[in-house]
Amino acid sequence: MGSRVLRVSESEIAERVSEIAKTISLDYRGRELIVVGVLKGAFVFLADLVRKLTIPVVLDFIQVASYGASMTSSGTISLKLPISMDVKGKDVLLVEDIVDTGGTIRFLLDHILSLGAASVAVCAMIDKPERRKVEVPVRYVCLRVPEGFLVGYGLDHAERYRELPGIYELITDASGENHPE
Ligand code: 5GP
Ligand code: MG
Repeated sequence: MGSRVLRVSESEIAERVSEIAKTISLDYRGRELIVVGVLKGAFVFLADLVRKLTIPVVLDFIQVASYGASMTSSGTISLKLPISMDVKGKDVLLVEDIVDTGGTIRFLLDHILSLGAASVAVCAMIDKPERRKVEVPVRYVCLRVPEGFLVGYGLDHAERYRELPGIYELITDASGENHPE
C-alpha cells in the first residue's frame, strides 16, 4: 500500500511565507504590483502570502492546462483561463505552486510579457531545481524540495488533498498504484 509522509509542516510553511512576503514588500515598495496567482495549486499559498505583504497589491488569476491527473509532466501547456486585467506597463508577480521542469512558468512568463507587462517576476511556493529542463528565472522561492510528488497546502493529486494544511509526499507502492489511505 502507498502512504503519505509529511515533508513541510504548517508552522515551517508559515515562517517561510512571512520571510518572503517581507522581501517582496521591500522590493516593490512604492510600486504598483499586480499579483497573478496560477490556479489551482497556488491558491492557499497566495492567500497566505498576500495577507503578509505590507504593500498594497491588486490580484488576478490565470490557469493553464498541463499536468492533468497524472504524476508526470505532459509537456504540452495551453491557456485555460486568461487574466482579466490589463497588465500593459505594469509590474507583475506570478505566484506559482511548483516550478518543476520549468515548462509551465516559461509559458506563463512569455505570455505575460507578450501582453506588454513592464516586468514579470516569479514567486514559487516550491522549487524543484534538480528537475529543471527549461531555464527560468525564479526570484522568490518559499521552499526547496529535491524530489517526490507533493500534495497538500493547495497541491493535488487528481484534485484531492488540496485542503491539507501541511505539504506531504505521496509514496506509491511497488505496483505503481497510489493508495494514500
Ligand atoms: P513544470 O511545467 O515546471 O514541469 O510543472 C509545473 C507544474 O507541475 C506545477 O504547476 C504543478 O501543477 C505540477 N507539479 C510538479 N510537481 C508536482 C508535485 O510534486 N505535486 C503536484 N501536486 N503537482 C506538481
Ligand atoms: Mg500548477
